[in-house]
Amino acid sequence: MIHYRLVCEAGHDFESWFKNSQAFETQAHKGQINCPYCESTKVTRGVMAPHVARTQDDQGKKLRELVTELRNKLIEGTDDVGDQFPEEARKMDDGEVKPRPIRGRATFEEAKALLEEGIQILPIPDAPSEGN
Ligand SMILES: [Zn+2]
Repeated sequence: MIHYRLVCEAGHDFESWFKNSQAFETQAHKGQINCPYCESTKVTRGVMAPHVARTQDDQGKKLRELVTELRNKLIEGTDDVGDQFPEEARKMDDGEVKPRPIRGRATFEEAKALLEEGIQILPIPDAPSEGN
């Protein structure tokens, strides 16, 4: 016997026992399952844990896609100055060179120093990997 949480077309939810999942499918198909509240036979399985998990996966996937897209845009729209990043950022802040969008590497200490000097920098997110 398996226990199903069911929901009718009117959104009533109720619970019922079936011999197995096939028995549920067959009975639901033949209209043999009635909602105890409104007697509707249009009954489907309610939201179960695996479905919720799937939804979370989809959300995770969407987030990964967003991060990847953002990362690509950041990379496309900026000049890679590599290790010169802290120096370049400072030069632009001082007006020594014309400001332009740059990206590069900075150590945690360098990044902290730049922020303390009031230079606006943002970390580029790492490319997300599946299963995060
Ligand atoms: Zn109902």
